[in-house]
Amino acid sequence: MIEEVAVALDVGGTGMKCALVGADGVVRHAERHPTDAGRGPDAVVETILTVAEGLAGKACADGLTPTALGIVVPGVVDEARGVAVWSANVGFRDVPLRDLAAARLGLPTALGHDVRAGGLAEARLGAGRDTGHVLFVAIGTGIAAAHVVAGKAVTGAHGAAGELGHILVRPDGPTCGCGRPGCLEAIASASAVARRYAELTGTGTAADTSTATSRRTGSASDDGSAAGPGQGRTMVTAAEVAARADAGEEVAAQVWRETVEALADGLATAQALFDVATIVLGGGLAQAGAGLFDPLRAALRDRLTFHREPRLVPAALGDEAGCLGAALLALDQMETP
Ligand SMILES: [Zn+2]
Repeated sequence: MIEEVAVALDVGGTGMKCALVGADGVVRHAERHPTDAGRGPDAVVETILTVAEGLAGKACADGLTPTALGIVVPGVVDEARGVAVWSANVGFRDVPLRDLAAARLGLPTALGHDVRAGGLAEARLGAGRDTGHVLFVAIGTGIAAAHVVAGKAVTGAHGAAGELGHILVRPDGPTCGCGRPGCLEAIASASAVARRYAELTGTGTAADTSTATSRRTGSASDDGSAAGPGQGRTMVTAAEVAARADAGEEVAAQVWRETVEALADGLATAQALFDVATIVLGGGLAQAGAGLFDPLRAALRDRLTFHREPRLVPAALGDEAGCLGAALLALDQMETP
């Protein structure tokens, strides 16, 4: 029997996670490649097509049959038209990636959004399995969400649904990357946590902060290590702030408390809108474990009145979620004639 597989690519600002995935959602082969976004969008598109072709060839060489291709990218994605509309960290502007890939590989192709695809995978294969209404929230350099209902991620009318990071939670708060003060991700993303801690402790210079921000803008699913070494001083990461808060350090505890409160405000708004059964938290910040989940569950409970409290659980698929979601998008299109 010849086994059919989907070719799946999750394209990020720094790297691409790629796989051959069976109809059962099991990864048969995985590889990673650098994106090298600095080369410009045309070169990135060429790399995507070449890598996808290589994967299809690998499938055939292994006796598998590649039947569909799924590609997910960050930013604003028009899934119906198959166009990567806008992406800061990959440099895409109105790239008709679905048609380009379909023409090159001769396979039916789906183009999706990285966080929505990650949410799809968590909802169907991971921590949200067996619950029909799931909100997946990725907290890394930014904050983004995917609302998955009955196994489909809601895209919105313009491909921009799920921008939970831009809910206004602190009108007098720091200015967000989108230009408005007080967005959730300006307070509770991994990079915002690191920045706030550096501000209050006087560690990490302003230059360190801006470098860290510009270098890592845009991917909510990044690992949350918000900054590298500065001029002889290292900016403390969000994970380290969580650990210091846990160990009883006062400033860290204050920053962490502010983070949890802001997240709880954002999630309470989301729950009022979506009434989900399960909220899955992924991305770097979610790795703080009980230090995040225990106070966040309590703070969320405090904010809910008549709404039902959702299950609040950590993501189960790690950084493979986006790639698995790309495979699901590829396989799904085979079912709709
Ligand atoms: Zn914003």
